[in-house]
Amino acid sequence: MKFATKAIHTPFSKQDTHGALRMPVYDNVAFETKNAEALEDAFRGTKPLHVYARLSNPTVEHFENVIKNLTDSSGVIALSSGMAAISNVFFCIAQAGDNFITSKNLFGNTYSFFEHTLKPFGVSFKYADLTRPECIEKLTDANTRGIFLETITNPQLEVTDIKKIATIGKNHHLVLIADSTITPLCFFNAKETGIDIEVISSTKYISGGATSMGGIIIDHGTFDWNSIPKFSPDAKKFGKFTFIAKLRKEVFRNIGACLSAHNAYLQTLGLETFHLRINKSCHNTQVLAEWLEKQKLITSVNYPGLATSEFHQISKKQFGKLHGALLTFDLVKKEHCFEFLNNLKIIRRATNLNDNKTLAIHPASTIYCEYTPEIRQELGVSDTMIRMAVGIEEPEDLIEDISQSLKSLAKNIK
Ligand SMILES: *Cc1c(COP(=O)(O)O)cnc(C)c1O
Repeated sequence: MKFATKAIHTPFSKQDTHGALRMPVYDNVAFETKNAEALEDAFRGTKPLHVYARLSNPTVEHFENVIKNLTDSSGVIALSSGMAAISNVFFCIAQAGDNFITSKNLFGNTYSFFEHTLKPFGVSFKYADLTRPECIEKLTDANTRGIFLETITNPQLEVTDIKKIATIGKNHHLVLIADSTITPLCFFNAKETGIDIEVISSTKYISGGATSMGGIIIDHGTFDWNSIPKFSPDAKKFGKFTFIAKLRKEVFRNIGACLSAHNAYLQTLGLETFHLRINKSCHNTQVLAEWLEKQKLITSVNYPGLATSEFHQISKKQFGKLHGALLTFDLVKKEHCFEFLNNLKIIRRATNLNDNKTLAIHPASTIYCEYTPEIRQELGVSDTMIRMAVGIEEPEDLIEDISQSLKSLAKNIK
């Protein structure tokens, strides 16, 4: 079966008692077993029964099974948000003294999680220019456990050669963890590219119109966990299921950032139309980016789908025809950015991606406001940058909105 069919027809793990065609919302906490022995089996994990909704739930399990079927992976866990997915992965892998290699071009809260949340626990990060994968070798030491990257970084829109990074990682027994929120699922084959653990904020594309928060951890079953001391007892027992097993019976359970049944229901529904929406929003982004490049007041446009982008070739090689639905552009001054945003009529001023609506924001004064201008510069977030997360409206209407906003701005500048 192809992607679109699997997204709709992945079977339930048990047939519904009433023959419901859509997985019902099991909005309850506890599950009863037929006897005490079965409950013991469930707690020991020898029988896959639901007992308590923080650990598992039929509606959430079905959502996980659809993702598992779509990615042909060895295990999937759905969580309450993208940040819950990222933090669970690191709490599961890292221990004090470990370090990881990453780039400074990251989603703002991920960078904050590394620097402010994990650092006090003795886990450190080495920041590299991942567009030059060869630098990873020099940064690796005996305590380096893994590499973390974003497939297209938000909001810098940098694209690295993931296959090259994966090869270097494999040579040094480093687990490759990738946040593919901007290019999820049908965009590219993460497993084939060499990504071991994939994390996705399903709040974005998958939720289907910004209906609900959610996060996904996908274990492609490709990493040999014997090479990380913390995992070696489990690795002998669980093989390619080591990571998901340890996560499920320990970190995921203990942290408690489970996805609610209602959100799993919404996101399963979102997955069914995902491939249609993604095509439309990426197409819209390409049209907008090409148009924006021709506008006088705009000093630069950043989108990997543009032939002028330094990442165009690698983006094409990795992702094919679609380059995501996020673009940034620069005006001359911060004040111009604010005025541009205030003039918009259709496009909304909000922070999210892959809503059905097009959203625009000034990242420096919002998502990155906690950082000094110097750090913002290091993070690739300028004061003159606008980020646009493109939706599925008709592109002509979006162009007209941007055009009227730029015209008003031009009038005021004179
Ligand atoms: C939004 C986002 C996250 C965080 O996801 P939440 O669901 O908001 O917790 C992580 N990474 C990227 C690239 C994002 O865009």
